[in-house]
Amino acid sequence: MPELPEVETIRRDLEPHLLGRRIVGFHVADVRARSKYRRLANARNQTIRAVSRRGKYLLVSLGDTELVVHLGMSGRLFLAESAPMVKHRRAVLDLSDGSHLVFVDRRRFGTLQLVEAGDYSTLPTLARMGPEPLSTEFAPEPWVTSMARANGSVKALLLSQRLVAGIGNIYADEALHRARIHPLAHHLGRRPALRLHQAIRDVLSEAIAHRGTTFSLHRDGLMNEGDFYAELRVFGQTGTPCRRCETPIVKVRVAGRGTHLCTRCQQP
Ligand SMILES: [Zn+2]
Repeated sequence: MPELPEVETIRRDLEPHLLGRRIVGFHVADVRARSKYRRLANARNQTIRAVSRRGKYLLVSLGDTELVVHLGMSGRLFLAESAPMVKHRRAVLDLSDGSHLVFVDRRRFGTLQLVEAGDYSTLPTLARMGPEPLSTEFAPEPWVTSMARANGSVKALLLSQRLVAGIGNIYADEALHRARIHPLAHHLGRRPALRLHQAIRDVLSEAIAHRGTTFSLHRDGLMNEGDFYAELRVFGQTGTPCRRCETPIVKVRVAGRGTHLCTRCQQP
């Protein structure tokens, strides 16, 4: 699933091509989910003012309205010179320069919604999202407090989006390994909480620098591959030696998700 670094890569790629373009038409190819895209008609004749990101959501500002894109499990969003007849094409937005913004989603968990600017009442995860991890709003002291107080395993808290935005299964596992914290740990003390705060910022910044992690379906906005995969220390590394202590990485289930860890570096 695309997480913050992958969505940020797409945003940076698309932004210069989208700014100032007008949406002149749209097509919904997904007949089974037409209602999901219903309000897209209101995007017609609107000009793209900004392309931003919040957590794993891409926000395309059209002035009074906003197009909110979530790529779900397998969604891709890319620009094409001509509207390609690719498999699993769900929606196409025609732009005033003749190009097309194409939304492809094999597993149909992705969403493309038009909302009033800033009104996320139909998107509860977005409405209640925690601070952006790479902004100054993600400050160490409030983080230490919330990590000490919040109930639930640290992995579940990272995945919830409520205390920090944009982290999914890959970067949760990577950040916890770097901070030497067991995914089931809860009510973290000050020192581990501060280590995790730094690890989150480090792993996400490095992944953005590598244009994200490429796995089965993810491609960035220009259909290139990211290469952070080679930097992963635990995710998808079951059986390979831990880079720190050489204990083989194991995969367990935490918060309903496959979770990778080093049992020596990350003790409960
Ligand atoms: Zn280790």
